[in-house]
Amino acid sequence: MDAIYNFSAGPAVLPKEVLEQAQDEMLDWHGSGMSVMEMSHRGKEFMSIAAKTEHDLRELANIPRNYKILFLQGGASSQFSMVPLNLLRGKTKADYINTGQWSTKAIEEARRYCTVNVAASSEDAGFTYIPPQQQWNLDPNAAYVHYTSNETIGGVEFHWIPEIHTDIPLVADMSSDILSRPIDVTRFGLIYAGAQKNLGPAGLVLVIVREDLLGMPLPGTPTLFNYQIHAQNDSMYNTPPTYALYITGLVFEWLKRKGGLTEIEKINIAKATLLYEFLDSSDFYHCPVAKTDRSRMNVPFTLKNPELDSEFLKQAELNGLLQLKGHRSVGGMRASIYNAMPIEGVEKLVAFMKEFANQHA
Ligand SMILES: *Cc1c(COP(=O)(O)O)cnc(C)c1O
Repeated sequence: MDAIYNFSAGPAVLPKEVLEQAQDEMLDWHGSGMSVMEMSHRGKEFMSIAAKTEHDLRELANIPRNYKILFLQGGASSQFSMVPLNLLRGKTKADYINTGQWSTKAIEEARRYCTVNVAASSEDAGFTYIPPQQQWNLDPNAAYVHYTSNETIGGVEFHWIPEIHTDIPLVADMSSDILSRPIDVTRFGLIYAGAQKNLGPAGLVLVIVREDLLGMPLPGTPTLFNYQIHAQNDSMYNTPPTYALYITGLVFEWLKRKGGLTEIEKINIAKATLLYEFLDSSDFYHCPVAKTDRSRMNVPFTLKNPELDSEFLKQAELNGLLQLKGHRSVGGMRASIYNAMPIEGVEKLVAFMKEFANQHA
């Protein structure tokens, strides 16, 4: 069978080596006689998996000791409410940057708890660019500033970290570009990411939060939505998504073997450059996103003639190129090329797109 490449936006491709290792360990993890799925989360075997996973992440992303790492359930969407519930800390306002559909959802949820100041938005141009920071209208009394570092649907990505007042925590939804490049965690108060884009299987959400921000949740905050409870219990207040956490741990080991985030970033740049340079050289395809703000992870594009969309998708699938259909809200195509997508997959996609264009020109 020819290689299959999965361009899904999420749940998404995982490294083949990781899946093979999980297969080898499926019935009997390290001589324990058990599958990881069957283990008590409080047993020594699983505790060692969780501890190693946290340790490897701390090393990979260079996370200082005064930041807690939490492995929670509820997806990135749960963080749309957990962030205001925990970070308002007596204040009544928060700044949000609106760069697409995920930011919009985060804003809608935050409005249940506070006054949201949309300090900048690219809605005027269909969310195809990142508003430059000179145009932001930040509120000095905001409890925090929230932005989405990569908009998975629109394919716009911050290639810079916002500069904000040091007393105000910066919060980022990094669901779809976390660990795609080195990050300076110290610039952030809180980072969150659903696992199923660039980290591992669905069911797990990662939170990295500065310790001093914990302990002042809004009155009435449910116990399970209180970061401090999870921090005090090493993410074991209730049962964490154990199998998803284990696979994510294998992904961290894989990233370390690849040379860490500096190396994976080089590969991600090479993959994205290959695809965007081809798109820009072609009259047959079009990418709507401003050149400076294009995502390295999610590449949306359209065919100039949308009547060919379904034929394109059909031929792509016959060529082993799967899940290229764009989000239902925007149409067209989207190629998600996360860490686990090998460059061969992008090369094969570009070759296919060239040939399809020639045949249908
Ligand atoms: C997928 C995604 C979400 C939502 O994730 P769930 O785990 O489905 O709740 C939020 N933000 C971004 C940027 C995403 O890509």
